[in-house]
Amino acid sequence: MDKKIEKHSNEECTQPSEHFNANNSLESSLKDAKIDFNRMIDATSTSTSEVLQEFIPTTEIKGMEDFIPESNYYAYYDQSSNSNVKIEREFDIDFPENLNVYSYEIGNNSSFESPKKGSTGVFNYYLMDGGSLLPVLALDLRPNTTFLDICAAPGGKSMLALQTLYPNIITSNDCSKSRVDRIYNVYKQFIFDFDEKFLKTGKVVLSQRDGRFIKNDTYDRILVDVPCTTDRHSLKENDNNIFKPSRIKERLKLPELQSELLFNALKLVNKGGIVVYSTCTLSPIQNDGVVHIVLKRICEESNMKIIIKDISPALLQARSLFKLASPKLMRYGHLVLPCSTQNFGPTYFCKLQRIE
Ligand code: SAM
Repeated sequence: MDKKIEKHSNEECTQPSEHFNANNSLESSLKDAKIDFNRMIDATSTSTSEVLQEFIPTTEIKGMEDFIPESNYYAYYDQSSNSNVKIEREFDIDFPENLNVYSYEIGNNSSFESPKKGSTGVFNYYLMDGGSLLPVLALDLRPNTTFLDICAAPGGKSMLALQTLYPNIITSNDCSKSRVDRIYNVYKQFIFDFDEKFLKTGKVVLSQRDGRFIKNDTYDRILVDVPCTTDRHSLKENDNNIFKPSRIKERLKLPELQSELLFNALKLVNKGGIVVYSTCTLSPIQNDGVVHIVLKRICEESNMKIIIKDISPALLQARSLFKLASPKLMRYGHLVLPCSTQNFGPTYFCKLQRIE
């Protein structure tokens, strides 16, 4: 068998040299070359010139009329345009007493074992990217507050909020039914006696609404963890990847959707209340860019007064676990940068407080 293959490959290797003519230089080939008239267009023929004149190069993709080029989003990120917003520095961040999180030490990127069910029938821990902790801490949850997680599925950050035991009511919302079902299943799998202790008592409310159009509700804290280009997932998974050509419209619409969700959250939050906007992308447009669009819109279209809370000083204590982008590079928020020794993120988050 091996011999056969060897023979066959030898044959293939010898073929070109058998046909190779050492004198077949470019110059000698051109001398012998003949024009192939079948491949020429007769410019004098009326039908040909019509065809040529009617040719219009493609400048647009059909169905893209409502979309602006991705490059235009950079206008929103223009460093010089002013949103006139006050930025206040914060030096402390509260770590809730009942919240337990575990991580390997710096430099150890081992995977945690899959969670196991204990005697109560629920899993012993929920695996999530470490960066997801920071937007929840930035919410500054306090006892007896009401909390809305406006884009909650699959429910990781809602569960972190529940673990603090602080909010009176946690509303976990998502726009799609299957995603809300997913939140419910996650709660059931990880929280003991979820139905009796949390759902029936109204301490946790599951809701299926489009976050852009929720009206008449008010909350003390709102997390806006928007759909984004999910960089880590997009890099590793082909399934349903946001960069596939069939999802181009959805991708181009993301900053618009994200800014509408954040704008509505700021309308729903009580005076003095806090909204945290977060993504899991490095994209400046989807991060500080969206915050900028919303601050400008608030300035132009509403009487709301918003301040940005710059928690960089408070985050200094998190440096042992997270690699954070230099505050000099950020306009409003904070960015957890994945690196080989601290492989968390990307997570962007920005803390906003409504004062009027
Ligand atoms: N916060 C979640 C967590 O920690 O598990 C992850 C949220 S995921 C990044 C974004 C979610 O937003 C998706 O579940 C998606 O279904 C939801 N979503 C997209 N558009 C929405 C809208 N208009 N209103 C509410 N939710 C929306």
